[in-house]
Amino acid sequence: MTRKIALVTGSGRGIGRGIAEALGREKWSVVVNYAGNAAAAREVVESIESSGGKATAVQADVSLSADRRRLLDQTCRVFGPPDLLVNNAGVAPGVRADILQADEASFDRLININLKGPYFLTQIVAAAMIAEIPRRKAAAPAGAADYSPSIVTISSISAYTASPNRGDYCVAKAGLSMMTALYAARLADEGIRVYEIRPGIIQTDMTGPVKEKYDALIAGGLTPIRRWGTPDDVARAVLAVAGGLLPFSTGEVINVDGGFHLRQL
Ligand code: NAP
Repeated sequence: MTRKIALVTGSGRGIGRGIAEALGREKWSVVVNYAGNAAAAREVVESIESSGGKATAVQADVSLSADRRRLLDQTCRVFGPPDLLVNNAGVAPGVRADILQADEASFDRLININLKGPYFLTQIVAAAMIAEIPRRKAAAPAGAADYSPSIVTISSISAYTASPNRGDYCVAKAGLSMMTALYAARLADEGIRVYEIRPGIIQTDMTGPVKEKYDALIAGGLTPIRRWGTPDDVARAVLAVAGGLLPFSTGEVINVDGGFHLRQL
């Protein structure tokens, strides 16, 4: 069996972990990227291997050019050029600061990790995918599954929801929406589909510090589906697009937010 290969950034914890484990259960080979928490990434690798998938952990800071190159090179060396890139790694601001006071250091950090990282990682991964397509076509035996790569970026409802106490996060996430449109337009002729998944309020370490606030908002009806989202909710959307269930769609935005985006009267 030819296993498909996925590179999932920031998959030692939270949403990325949910995506990596779901792909592992579908027998993908998964690169589990992380920034600093090696123990968490090791746990994800073990969990994927115990469910019949293959996985390897690779430390790389997506905000650094040399790390992005090393992450792709290691992916290709261990498993091969990826069928799927999931741009998931991201951080919240260290403090939620009013936009009238928020500092440049936080802005630079959020833009570098949450926007510049995926923007330029996508650039080099797309190039590797483009180079792989003719090679696979030539090598594939008749009837073999196509190499039809895809790229999924995990943005946020913050791409369009103004939170003036974390403007840096919102601006970075809004940038990811345009990034998706740009790569979708550029890569369609290459045979690569590009999607944006917009999670709403998802229970992870990132939302731990604001859990009580969101508990109350959800109970009060902020989301038509009155519950927290889970990493698995997001993972299911990734499986749908990576599994080829949306073959005539690219640049598509998939809301995984319990209906938060609906306007109601
Ligand atoms: P999380 O639980 O804090 O996990 C973040 C993951 O990203 C960790 O694996 C972390 O690695 C990794 N990471 C952080 N900085 C990195 C860097 N510079 N390079 C590589 N990896 C890095 O966060 P999460 O809630 O799962 O969020 C995942 C993504 O979903 C983010 O892009 C976030 O903005 C987005 N999102 C989250 C929510 C939500 O409600 N939770 C909603 C919408 C969108 P270490 O383990 O090594 O630290």
